[in-house]
Amino acid sequence: MKTAAVFKGFKLYAQVIVDIAHSQVDKIFEYSCPDTLKAGGRVKVPFGGRLIDGFVIGVSRTSSYPAEKLKPVAEVFDEEPAIIPECLELMNGISARYRVPKAAALRLFIPSEMRLGKVREAFKSYAVFTGGEAKLSASAKKQTQALEYLKSKGECGFTELCLSFGRGAVNSLVQKGVIRLEKRKVARNPFSGLPSSSAEKVLTPAQREALEKIENSEKTVYLIHGVTGSGKTEIYLNVIAREILKGRTAIFLVPEISLTPQMLMQLRGRFGEAAAIIHSGLSAGERFDEWHRLRSGEAKIAIGARSAVFAPLENIGAIIIDEEHDSSYVSESAPRYSTADIALMRAKYNGAKLILGSATPSVETYVKAADGEYGLITLTERVNKKPLPEIIIADMRKEVRRGNNSAFSLALREELDDTLKKGNQAIIFLNRRGYSRQVLCRNCGYVAKCENCDVTLTYHSEENCLKCHYCGTRYRMPAACPECGGVHILYSGTGTQRVVADLKNLFPSSRILRMDNDTVSGKDGHYNILKRFSSKQADILVGTQMIAKGHDFPSVTLVGILDADMSLHFSDYRSGERTFQLITQVSGRSGRAGEAGKVVLQTCAPENYILRYATAYDYKGFFENEIALRRATGFPPYSLICRIMVTSENDRAALEALKNVYFATEELRNANPAEFIFLNRMHSPIKKIQGKHRYQVLMRLQGKKLLESIYDIAVKFSTNDVFVYVEENPANLS
Ligand code: ADP
Ligand code: ZN
Repeated sequence: MKTAAVFKGFKLYAQVIVDIAHSQVDKIFEYSCPDTLKAGGRVKVPFGGRLIDGFVIGVSRTSSYPAEKLKPVAEVFDEEPAIIPECLELMNGISARYRVPKAAALRLFIPSEMRLGKVREAFKSYAVFTGGEAKLSASAKKQTQALEYLKSKGECGFTELCLSFGRGAVNSLVQKGVIRLEKRKVARNPFSGLPSSSAEKVLTPAQREALEKIENSEKTVYLIHGVTGSGKTEIYLNVIAREILKGRTAIFLVPEISLTPQMLMQLRGRFGEAAAIIHSGLSAGERFDEWHRLRSGEAKIAIGARSAVFAPLENIGAIIIDEEHDSSYVSESAPRYSTADIALMRAKYNGAKLILGSATPSVETYVKAADGEYGLITLTERVNKKPLPEIIIADMRKEVRRGNNSAFSLALREELDDTLKKGNQAIIFLNRRGYSRQVLCRNCGYVAKCENCDVTLTYHSEENCLKCHYCGTRYRMPAACPECGGVHILYSGTGTQRVVADLKNLFPSSRILRMDNDTVSGKDGHYNILKRFSSKQADILVGTQMIAKGHDFPSVTLVGILDADMSLHFSDYRSGERTFQLITQVSGRSGRAGEAGKVVLQTCAPENYILRYATAYDYKGFFENEIALRRATGFPPYSLICRIMVTSENDRAALEALKNVYFATEELRNANPAEFIFLNRMHSPIKKIQGKHRYQVLMRLQGKKLLESIYDIAVKFSTNDVFVYVEENPANLS
């Protein structure tokens, strides 16, 4: 603790949150500090006998403790505080709303590699010609050449110069004073090789009207409900451009990492280096540099998936959430924040506009727009005036009766054939990855399951193994049934690998690409597959959810949806909404440019009302029906579904905690009987994931009144062994 002594005698006091996300140390600690320290800075402080990282959330001239009792901070990290004043306020909001320690909220605001101190700024040495003259002997050929070269350039990289002329020669020139060495910071620029696109377009009347409405009305939140291809992106870009002109900044959120390079390309095309990207696929160094470009004000637009909502931007003028209905906008780890909630907090703080966009808004969002709480902008036509693709329904029950047991209906095969003959492209969508869903013994009915998770395994033909999609464990494919020794192993269900294999049989000369979690890796994984497909290096793209959203492939004129019912059968109040969204989104990939597109939708329930509305592109009809159903049955937005999850590797401890959590919730219900519609405790549908037993207390509440008490229960019964947490309207009830 040598440095500590240096700071002794300072008369300023820092309020510090130590970087330990634990409720027991979720307090403000005071230290004396140098008077250059600002709120938002990071420090090292003595804590419990060691030095630990901390965040300064305030500095003051007075202290609530006797000054001589306070220890001095040991080290100050940044010249400029890492955390902007707005985020200090946001910290309080998040900590109160989601009941997490302040340190856990603060961690959201800076890249993790900055906290751990692993990444540093990158520097490069330059050799610069000083303008001086040096007497070089005739024998010093290399020096002469190096000097000539440098004179002509003015400067160049030190390493490059040494490589060309030799380190000895260069060092001599440095000694003679004709070369000066300079260390400069370099920004590691992700996607710097991306071509930029998107020249400014002449806006359509509908786009212009939308912009006027956003500019001239007083609302904070706007919903742009526009059919796929209606030019929403162009509206976003113009909103951003206006804010930048006003000297303000913007955040642009997209749901999937895979969409980011495409959007970035457009943003770079329009705004150049003013756009910075934040996402988990970047290398640590890139993330660090992009973050600093935003913090320093060099970059003014942050683009990324949900974590970009925490971008260190001041004076925000607009926050855009594209595909607002997407479930990836809810965080899956504590704090389980909703991105739109955080965005709204930031929009209010900055007096900014929050713009939500979707072709299929979530029912919860649309109801607010219909009620006038949000401004509503509706775009009913595609920019190219082309009709939305025709959706042909293929009744798979009839196919089976006709003796067609394959994954492809006759209609889809014919349309595929036609598409390929015309030299166009097709997308085949299905929900499952892998070769087939299950491996089943025909003799005894044995189904292969994961040892750590209560889920069935999926066969992957490329590696000839079984994989657990929850924990990633691989298992050898059994030659015989481990239960009965039977050798008739059946593969049931169809996965992406299987579809590719079947397609190769049906269309041997076609070139097929597959995109799912197994084929995609690294930050460029998505981008590379999409690039190959869009440059027509393949005819058919087979994929899962990943290919459903956002992509703009002009040559795609056919989309096949193999199992439209898959998501209909989940016992979840949102399954109808999900199905509608999925069909609309996937269909939207067809016929985006010149030729009209088609969609073949395969189903075993063609009479289902969700499918009827989806095939007619009737969002309003779907919404009216759905909201009436939710009102009648008391489901969100007319109630709040809350789940307290109790998980532990120790089954007994989990059960004990479950009992306590349930009793505490019951007490809450006894005190507030009118607030509860439903309350029960049970095993979670998936009883075990990654070795952790899972139980839940499930409840349906009239509203948010008791939320705080429910979060308190979770905090109270969390221990080192048992993890207890709350989910609000969970997207996934597994
Ligand atoms: P959305 O985001 O609503 O699905 P996009 O913004 O991707 O729609 O627009 C669909 C297509 O129309 C894109 O190829 C886009 O470049 C083009 N486009 C959008 N606005 C215009 C415009 N004003 N003039 C010409 N083309 C446009
Ligand atoms: Zn597993």
